[in-house]
Amino acid sequence: MNIATSQHLFEKAQHFIPGGVNSPVRAFRAVGGSPVFIKSAKGPYVYDEDDNEYIELINSWGPMILGHANELIQKAVYDAIQHSFSFGAPTRREVEMAELIVSMVPSIEKVRMVNSGTEATMSAIRVARGFTGRDKIIKFEGCYHGHGDSFLIAAGSGAVTFGTPDSPGVTKGVANDTLTAPFNDLEAVQTLVNANKNTIAALILEPVVGNMGCVLPADGFLQGLRKICDEEGIVLILDEVMTGFRLAKGGAQERFGITPDLTTLGKIIGGGMPVGAYGGRADIMNKVSPAGPVYQAGTLSGNPIAMAAGLTMLNYLNDHPEVYTQLETSGEKLANGFKASMRKLGLNYTLNQIGSMYTLFFTDQPVTDFPSAKSSDLPLFGRYFHAMLDRGIYMGPSQFESMFLSTALEDKHLDTIIAANEESLKEIL
Ligand code: PLP
Repeated sequence: MNIATSQHLFEKAQHFIPGGVNSPVRAFRAVGGSPVFIKSAKGPYVYDEDDNEYIELINSWGPMILGHANELIQKAVYDAIQHSFSFGAPTRREVEMAELIVSMVPSIEKVRMVNSGTEATMSAIRVARGFTGRDKIIKFEGCYHGHGDSFLIAAGSGAVTFGTPDSPGVTKGVANDTLTAPFNDLEAVQTLVNANKNTIAALILEPVVGNMGCVLPADGFLQGLRKICDEEGIVLILDEVMTGFRLAKGGAQERFGITPDLTTLGKIIGGGMPVGAYGGRADIMNKVSPAGPVYQAGTLSGNPIAMAAGLTMLNYLNDHPEVYTQLETSGEKLANGFKASMRKLGLNYTLNQIGSMYTLFFTDQPVTDFPSAKSSDLPLFGRYFHAMLDRGIYMGPSQFESMFLSTALEDKHLDTIIAANEESLKEIL
């Protein structure tokens, strides 16, 4: 495959941008080789600077759930820009957006728009601290909640890919306030809570993890956390930046029947524009300025173009429940296809899949937490990744990422991915 233009751009980029990219995992470090530079995308396809075509499994790390360049969203954005780009003032669409989010995610009574998932999680933690008057938080090893200081302790996603789950630059004070527990281990959480009575403001987690690869909550885990938080007056925050509007209209919380105190959102909520949101119980959200004393603000928060894109996306998802039926069917088809190939080839790698999220882990162990995810054969994943890319499949370039399906993937695309997976597995054996 000719990627000469991408290679040239990457060389140049490294002179001007740290590591040549604006977000670490894009650099392909974990899998080797030069990243492909993307020029355009439509429906299920992305095209690089050398005009190679790929079937999309990244989908901008989640937001493009309807596929690329969706015409409804394009039109909404085009219409919105006729009226300028930003006002820094309240707008009608923000109100419609908040009303829609509240109606789609029942645990959210009030919501504040921000510009990224990172802002959403940082702000949610702050309001939880302001509400409880406590400092510490609990997070889970291998969960990623953006690059806020508090979260770069035992973090997943790019942080683990680059060997910096505990980033330099985070102060000891912040690190001391962040307690970590193994995912799916209720006992460990209870022990932490017992040892830190009346000091824990919040417990935050990805209800289905995407950032150590796709990892599902064990039966009763989420309910057990809810109980511990209730008993100890801890604010339960579900980080649904990835899973929100993806695993169900009302997110993972709807799917698993759990009611958090606060929820963080991002990705799909912006329809591809930079948007995040945090919301939840009115008594907690009423602590946010100017309703209350916890400060949080943003020049571009609720940006009219971003609201136009996001509102169109959410309205579409709200009005078209068949989106979720299709994504379930596609996810199952892909998982069954991958499993059939592995049986044929005598392989026993672990495939974790739920709805439109999946990760094929190059380990025989069940993957239920961070250590089991890390037992994967990373060099083998790198070879698999390139074998797939050579066959025109654009996957997340790290074992510690989830793939994201979109509704633009038709049966023929899924068949192509299944066939490419089988050929790639054969190639790397
Ligand atoms: N939370 C989760 C679960 C995420 O997956 C991410 C990003 O991947 C974030 C928060 C941070 O979002 P952003 O990259 O928009 O800052």
